[in-house]
Amino acid sequence: MRGIVHHITEELRNTARELLASGRISAFLGFREGDHPMTVAPFAARTAEEVELLIFNSFCVLNSANTIPELLRDLTPPAKRGEPPNEPPMIGVIATGCWSRNIVVQIQEHQVPRDKLVIVGVASRGMVDRRKVLAKLPNSDVYSVEEQDHLLLVRGRGYEVEIPRWEVVRDNCRSCSHPEAVDFDLWIGPKTGPRSIDAPFQELEEIEGLGAAGRWEWFSNEFSRCIRCYACRNACPLCYCPTCFVDDSRPQWVGKSADFSDTATFHLLRAYHCAGRCTDCGACESVCPMDIPLRKLTKKLYKAVKERFGFEPGLSSGATLPLSTFSSEDREEFILRPGGPGQEER
Ligand code: SF4
Ligand code: SF4
Ligand code: SF4
Repeated sequence: MRGIVHHITEELRNTARELLASGRISAFLGFREGDHPMTVAPFAARTAEEVELLIFNSFCVLNSANTIPELLRDLTPPAKRGEPPNEPPMIGVIATGCWSRNIVVQIQEHQVPRDKLVIVGVASRGMVDRRKVLAKLPNSDVYSVEEQDHLLLVRGRGYEVEIPRWEVVRDNCRSCSHPEAVDFDLWIGPKTGPRSIDAPFQELEEIEGLGAAGRWEWFSNEFSRCIRCYACRNACPLCYCPTCFVDDSRPQWVGKSADFSDTATFHLLRAYHCAGRCTDCGACESVCPMDIPLRKLTKKLYKAVKERFGFEPGLSSGATLPLSTFSSEDREEFILRPGGPGQEER
């Protein structure tokens, strides 16, 4: 059966092929099949042959924006001694709602020049959480997964089962109200429009209701499993710092051991570095080998920024960024004063 993802993949390849053949771009950035079922890998196609490897399906849980700065750097010819740096060539990139919002954030933060991008917009159908699929098939190896419009056909040794696709879609995608690219030059696939979500922050309610001690216990239990592989940071399009604070040795902000205070420092600081910038794309959580619910931190900060500043990241490149401006009307109750607001448990 040739479903919607096959049609979108064909359109994607046709578009990338035409852009490369016309000389408008030097490479097209997207994804190709990964080495295991239900995985993909970032991929930059530079020839007509390589375009045939590009795919779009429900397992594209990474974020295409994450690879743009590195690809532009790789494609920029080195400058001759004493001469100014060369400009990067143009590239094409596929973008769903959150990927395009992260591209907008990168443009706002001067990491990516908009005029070097041909953004090919697409509407996300919600990406699949492979862990949810595997949880339905305990003790079974998965050999292949075929995606149909509303079903996943999973095959292994001696079995073939159908799983309704929406049942195994990632939590962030289920609460996403902007599945379509917000900034694009070309479009592939059907348009869906924004989605109305009744309770976009419902997944936080249980933890919010625990009280400070309960929340710390939850955080300690979940995050003590972290092995500090930094896959979450490396998959995040916001984490482009040349030297991350965890890698800095002068001064050394964070110890290298598995001590929990260092692990906690990493996660709390990284989450705050993403405040007002995170689009809830879910890439960090998807790549975590220890199944740590990273998005609970970043989603809480997303909610705080939305409620306090009426701001959602990446929806408009002309928007004023809430954490780079100051208003005398800001509530500032987070600033602790003796006997003042902020002393009570929230
Ligand atoms: S912190 Fe996670 S969810 Fe937020 S933009 Fe980065 S990878 Fe995406
Ligand atoms: S965690 Fe902070 S310092 Fe490290 S790469 Fe991300 S934004 Fe930069
Ligand atoms: S990907 Fe998971 S295990 Fe690795 S550093 Fe991030 S939270 Fe820790």
